[in-house]
Amino acid sequence: MNIPMINLKAQYKKIQKDLEPKVTEILKEQQLILGKYCTLLETTIADYVGVPYAVTCANGTDALILALMALGIQEGDEVITTPYTFFSTASSIALVGARPVFVDIEPDYMNINPALIEQKITKRTKAIMVVHLFGKLCDMNRIKRVATKYRLPIIEDMAQSLGSAHKGKQAGSFGDIAALSFYPTKNLGGIGEGGMVLTKRKDLGERVKKLRVHGMGSVTYVHELIGFNSRLDEIKAAALTVKFPHLESWNRKRMENAAYYNEHLRDLPIMLPKIVDSSSHIFHQYVIRLTPRDKLQKFLKEKGIQTGIYYPLPLHLQKCFSYLGYKKGSFPVAEQASATSLALPIYPELTNRERAYIISSIRQFFM
Ligand SMILES: *Cc1c(COP(=O)(O)O)cnc(C)c1O
Repeated sequence: MNIPMINLKAQYKKIQKDLEPKVTEILKEQQLILGKYCTLLETTIADYVGVPYAVTCANGTDALILALMALGIQEGDEVITTPYTFFSTASSIALVGARPVFVDIEPDYMNINPALIEQKITKRTKAIMVVHLFGKLCDMNRIKRVATKYRLPIIEDMAQSLGSAHKGKQAGSFGDIAALSFYPTKNLGGIGEGGMVLTKRKDLGERVKKLRVHGMGSVTYVHELIGFNSRLDEIKAAALTVKFPHLESWNRKRMENAAYYNEHLRDLPIMLPKIVDSSSHIFHQYVIRLTPRDKLQKFLKEKGIQTGIYYPLPLHLQKCFSYLGYKKGSFPVAEQASATSLALPIYPELTNRERAYIISSIRQFFM
């Protein structure tokens, strides 16, 4: 067998019939950028997440930068975040001139540890940027308590977590502003790059809308802010509106696969992801932790099973962030996660046969 980490061709088959006429229509009409499909995508996702303002943009990294810019974060400011995440969570902070201040993760879900945030807050702290890593919501009640006490805005990096919810409240609706990515491998992945900023605050929504078109307001070539170009293409927006109705069932399939893995791996010397509150983890990735991690990865590769390591080097140990002054040992839980994490294929189109083969291969490794 040959099992990839994600199967986009299988996903495309499901939407091909609905998408292709829309692509043809857009090509005929030649409204190529920020047209009706971008608007439809904005209202659709805003409704789903439960916030009034949504602004499409070019990619998830831009969405983070736009969120930070809208909050006025700049040189001399500090933003608290996690070292165990995709690069752009922290690079976006550095790119607007501010300083990423890392806080170690909690061991259960590998999200930022709420208990360690307060001690990192200084006079310069201007925001807390949380990441709902691998699709698991952070403990937003605890994080909000700290943020409220110090009057700090919360930015949610929800690139991996569209659809995860706690008691019906969706990721992206807890903080002041949220950044979403439609990179093809995300749970709602596009046919190219794409992103979105979501917010419940009118002032921020309006600022982001200007910032993504060079800071222009309603009058063309009159620039109220120094923005940049981060527009989304209509064809890509149309594809996302076609895929969106499948998101819930795709997420459910991921959860089902995760439950299956947990059931069939629980007696092995592996740390499995916890599933307590079923809606709060949409399993963008299914990440197990174990000590002979590299050996298992190699073994599975020989069996034709692709796996992934998210993330092999925590951000505080990246060369480009050495100026921040962190060293090995600064964030032991994140470092331990980097050394032991292995992501198994979890995508919705995974067949029962493939799932069973992955399980039997892992069990064979431990025999
Ligand atoms: C994918 C991702 C991003 C960046 O999104 P792009 O669209 O690739 O720029 C940011 N943060 C996290 C946690 C991500 O997984």
